[in-house]
Amino acid sequence: MTANTSANVDVIIDTGDREIPECPHGPALLFVRYERGSSSSKFFACSAFRDRKECSFFQWESEKLSEEKKKIRQDINSKQQLKFSHQEAYDRFSKFKEQSISSRELCQTCGMFLLPGELEGHKGHRIKSPITEEMLEKPTQLFLPLDNNKTFAQYLFSAPAVDFTLKTLEDLSFTHIICVGAPRIFEAIELKKDSNVKGLLLDLDHRYQLYPASKFCRYNMFNHHFFDGQKSDDVFGQFISEEGGKRVAMVMDPPFGGMVEALAATYNKISQQWKTLSDKPQDTDLPILWFFPYFMEKRIKESLPKTFMLDYKVDYDNHMLFRGDMKKQGSPVRIFTNLSPESVILPASEGYWYCKVCSRYSAKENLHCDVCDSCPSKDGKTYKHCFKCDRCVKPSKQHCDTCKMCQRQDHRCGQSLSNGCHICGALDHKRRNCPKQGSSSTKRGAPEHNSSNRQKRKRKK
Ligand code: SAH
Ligand code: ZN
Ligand code: ZN
Ligand code: ZN
Ligand code: ZN
Repeated sequence: MTANTSANVDVIIDTGDREIPECPHGPALLFVRYERGSSSSKFFACSAFRDRKECSFFQWESEKLSEEKKKIRQDINSKQQLKFSHQEAYDRFSKFKEQSISSRELCQTCGMFLLPGELEGHKGHRIKSPITEEMLEKPTQLFLPLDNNKTFAQYLFSAPAVDFTLKTLEDLSFTHIICVGAPRIFEAIELKKDSNVKGLLLDLDHRYQLYPASKFCRYNMFNHHFFDGQKSDDVFGQFISEEGGKRVAMVMDPPFGGMVEALAATYNKISQQWKTLSDKPQDTDLPILWFFPYFMEKRIKESLPKTFMLDYKVDYDNHMLFRGDMKKQGSPVRIFTNLSPESVILPASEGYWYCKVCSRYSAKENLHCDVCDSCPSKDGKTYKHCFKCDRCVKPSKQHCDTCKMCQRQDHRCGQSLSNGCHICGALDHKRRNCPKQGSSSTKRGAPEHNSSNRQKRKRKK
């Protein structure tokens, strides 16, 4: 079983004064696994690689390592570094470019720009040649996307999604964009030669080492770890504080495997560093666009209460979720942001419209409900109001008088579909709200207050 993809595992952010062990991918994360009936177990595991085959690091929380074992682990960690340092890879790339276009060869299997004489070692691999200047300006199209890989989960934005994101940032006059796991956004910024917008790419994928150290840092977003240590720290610090850090924003498109709390902790660290380095008041936050599926809204809001989910559907070139039924509703990926929703103009050409009551842009099918006093749809379908439930529900549901709530037509009456709480088994709550939850260590963000539009507006009136 892998640590953070299974349903009964949570990540623990507040690790108190524990000593945090390191694997080759930076400080490990502390996880807790719930097993109903038995007590929960805590362990450290790799924060980046969810597959034990790719990073075998594992340590029970209670395990005390001998000095000898620690030494062995340090050796393992230093041996597991990449074949080429950033400088070496960058130098190789410069040499690669000195070759004529027709003799340039890229091994797409290894993601490696080959130098003369190296083809030998890549028999049976997928070799691309010739390689033009234009291709080198669009590495996200040149490299094979690592979309079969649970760790990298590389899903690339469609051109309209890139354009929308950049236009939004430019319209709000941001000039420094931290691109966390968003190589296409970074690449588009690089291609805009006439604009004053700059990007810094932070990504786990070493293939982007073709960019200089001033533009790309190899980075783990689950623990805010720079693989090149101080050097990257400096580049990063310089970038977020340039010109007083005035127009800095962050875009982040993480793998969707969960771990929201770890990502939120990373954002909080970055935002805090930005405030410190550029003398911002404590109550400001670094502007962020966080790309994530709509059904994670509750989790994100628990971790970052000031974020708002935009209705914009983010399209990808290679995403598996868009098959079959999903196609009609469009992409399930949305943008979570702390920018004011009315300032983010969604394209009318794609059917988005401005709802004056909600002061935000809504999708075409998202009809405003006067009873709820909101545009209620989340998933791309038109919701309908149920007067018995006193709220809008998905169109596939119907009110069931036995269950006293709206249910799918194929539901089994009186039986909750949920498996109940992982800790105590009760059906009326999830483990996050379990009263029996081992208190201090599993501390999360503030519990969600019911801050629906309706309640806010009722208070305002
Ligand atoms: N839609 C984006 C790509 C998102 S795919 C775009 O088109 O630009 C997820 C990205 O996060 C990939 O670039 C992947 O290499 C990177 N990534 C995966 N795990 C990561 C980690 N632990 N830390 C940093 N980047 C990671
Ligand atoms: Zn190869
Ligand atoms: Zn509305
Ligand atoms: Zn309603
Ligand atoms: Zn109902």
